[in-house]
Amino acid sequence: MSRRKKGADRCSIRVCVTCNEPKDYSRFTLRENPDGTVRLDAECKECQSKAAAVKRGANPARAIVWRRAATRAHQLGVSRTFLLLDLKWETLIPPLEAAITVGLCQRCGHRYNSVADITFDHGEPPRDELKPDWAREHADNIRLRCKSCNVSKRDMAYSDWLDSQEVARVSHANGRPQTQHQPLPLFAGLEDDGEQ
Ligand SMILES: [Zn+2]
Ligand SMILES: [Zn+2]
Repeated sequence: MSRRKKGADRCSIRVCVTCNEPKDYSRFTLRENPDGTVRLDAECKECQSKAAAVKRGANPARAIVWRRAATRAHQLGVSRTFLLLDLKWETLIPPLEAAITVGLCQRCGHRYNSVADITFDHGEPPRDELKPDWAREHADNIRLRCKSCNVSKRDMAYSDWLDSQEVARVSHANGRPQTQHQPLPLFAGLEDDGEQ
């Protein structure tokens, strides 16, 4: 056994195609071929994990959605793929990208403190009697909100929450000078064609 290992040691160095460094075989991922034989990846593990980090950095929104889907899937006892594909969580990537870029909470209009401050809020809270409540775990029911909006909504039904916010807004606006709403620069100059 030890002799065989010694013999293998002599030729157990492989040069990585990416970093060109000679490395021990253990630094390469071993893959099984369909015919049962094995082969080593051409790229070393270090280079592979560096490439994965670059990929995550290139699309942080996707990385965040995947991570949050994994966490939620674990809580619900399903696979991440089920949330991403069947419950359409993949569609949350573009709005999250926009939220990161524009950086404003759609509810309160304040700037997000950080990416962690952009939370996935269940518009309609999952119902206790249905566990898991697949209808409400669907991406269509997920809204991007800042942490403080998410926390203050708690388990309120969405329509109740919306109405309570309007009551709060009106009472807050009472006795204060009315804000003149200017169109966002993006829409300035666009004609309203009156279509609903
Ligand atoms: Zn390498
Ligand atoms: Zn907010």
